Amino acid sequence: MKYNRTYNFSAGPATMPEPVLEEIRDEMMNYRGSGMCVMEMSHRSPVFQQIVDEAERDLRELMHIPDNYRVLFIQGGATLQFAMIPVNLMKNGVACYVETGAWSKKAIAEAKKYGDVHVVASSRDRNFCCIPDCSNLDIPENADYVYICENETIHGVTWNRLPDTRGHVLVSDQSSMFLSRPCNVSDYGLIYAGVQKNVGPAGMVVAIIREDLIREDLDPRTPIYMSYKTHADNGSMYNTPNCWAIYCCGKVFRYLRSIGGLEEMERRNIEKARVMYDFLDSSEMFTGTVDRECRSLMNIPFVTGNRDLDAKVVAAARAAGFDNLKGHKSVGGLRASVYNAMPREGVEALVEFLKKFEAENG
Ligand SMILES: *Cc1c(COP(=O)(O)O)cnc(C)c1O
Repeated sequence: MKYNRTYNFSAGPATMPEPVLEEIRDEMMNYRGSGMCVMEMSHRSPVFQQIVDEAERDLRELMHIPDNYRVLFIQGGATLQFAMIPVNLMKNGVACYVETGAWSKKAIAEAKKYGDVHVVASSRDRNFCCIPDCSNLDIPENADYVYICENETIHGVTWNRLPDTRGHVLVSDQSSMFLSRPCNVSDYGLIYAGVQKNVGPAGMVVAIIREDLIREDLDPRTPIYMSYKTHADNGSMYNTPNCWAIYCCGKVFRYLRSIGGLEEMERRNIEKARVMYDFLDSSEMFTGTVDRECRSLMNIPFVTGNRDLDAKVVAAARAAGFDNLKGHKSVGGLRASVYNAMPREGVEALVEFLKKFEAENG
């Protein structure tokens, strides 16, 4: 390995594509003749405006975002969206949420501060190891939206078929699967993603919102930053944006286009995840914790069934150059996050390591 980097299986902030990091390095001291680093630039300068415009254009191309959707770059992470969504989208004060794990739970708790929240389906009784049946949800007529977390980063479950919202607006937290596969944007009213999982550095969210959902008649006490209209009317630059994250994400959008777009990314992600799941299905020592049909391509939790042994694997893996495999404290065991930027070789090397560990400790 050229830079002596570890294979980083962190759930986020997470590994980024090496060609992108190299480009950033090359432009660090003097961005394309501007005489300065992007970190040092005025966000009102033409050179930075071009960076934002290109980032948005490349994302639109990549996802085929229709013209009636706005692309917003917002700070505060995915966590701020847990509040911004009810504040902006609750007209009737009613929303439906599907509870599938840790992140949807947090979104539900936040939304409850603002209105009447119906948890219309939950996999809580199965420890969030699957996506509940959503073919016949009991959605009140006046519900403002239906909310899902499309990939639960901690529990490792993912949606392979969207719920039937009966014509209501669908809102999706795509933080840990954003750009991992093609996405039909017009199925949604609002898609958002914290970029530090599958795209770039921490501190920013991309929100893709259908224009008619951007409202002006919010409670006048709403912080100006929390109104989607503020961001939409000001090209995501009402105040100083996270310039650095916009720049880095733009590079990743461009890189994804260069490798063949989201179809190619999905093909690679399926292959890569299969290496890991095939191993888990054949291992005597390690077991995946998620039902087969809901398994995430991005976050793969697994256990030995013995806490001490789990800890021993994590430590041995770390020493062997595989970092951040410890499972989240709420699930335990191990978790391999294999986002877009994790090369297939990294997963293959991890599986070789785990096989050897099993042979020596089984
Ligand atoms: C990490 C994560 C969040 C929270 O993101 P922050 O940017 O830390 O606020 C929300 N939802 C999902 C699915 C996540 O993976």
